[in-house]
Amino acid sequence: MNVIIFGPPGAGKGTQAQYIVNKFNLHQVSTGDLLRSEIKNRTDTGKEIEHIISKGDFATDDIVNRLLKKVITNSNYRNRIVFDGYPRNINQAENLEIILNSDNQSINFILFLKVSRDILEKRILGRVTCEKCNKIFNKFIDSNEIDNHPCGENYMIKRKDDNEETIINRYDEYMKKTKPVLDFYSSRSYFHEIDGSNKIEQISRKIEQIFKV
Ligand SMILES: [Zn+2]
Repeated sequence: MNVIIFGPPGAGKGTQAQYIVNKFNLHQVSTGDLLRSEIKNRTDTGKEIEHIISKGDFATDDIVNRLLKKVITNSNYRNRIVFDGYPRNINQAENLEIILNSDNQSINFILFLKVSRDILEKRILGRVTCEKCNKIFNKFIDSNEIDNHPCGENYMIKRKDDNEETIINRYDEYMKKTKPVLDFYSSRSYFHEIDGSNKIEQISRKIEQIFKV
């Protein structure tokens, strides 16, 4: 089976992708890794990519499609690919189908791990640390534990974290950019939206159920 997995920062996409790769013996394909490997191996395409990046541009869809075709049609990976962070736009989505069709393959499952901005904010911004024992809590989720914590409430501090704003900005940007691609896929019978606010294990079980159908 071939799987596409989508999810904004904070939804646990990386964790779940890793999980299904191991559990179902799949091969994870990230375009970033493909590009980096070409550069590292000093291939002609790698040199081309380096040249583009040095000018501050992104690798073209044409290059990405070429590299993907190589992986998708590789007999070691055929029909056992997890696409991570791809496709990023409609052009790439259409090309992916052309490549798959030309090799008698298809997309079997599209997973979208959804987490609302509100929940992401609560997860990130609610983080408090006990200064005495360094235990981390979330004031929106663990209010009982905080009230009953033996060190006492006076030690609970909110540590300043510059990453917080970055994560939320990345979330907004991801949702904006990915919306057209999700719209492109969402009406398909094999598109599955999964509640990314659940616990990691629950999400994994849910994905396993989907794969069994
Ligand atoms: Zn404590």
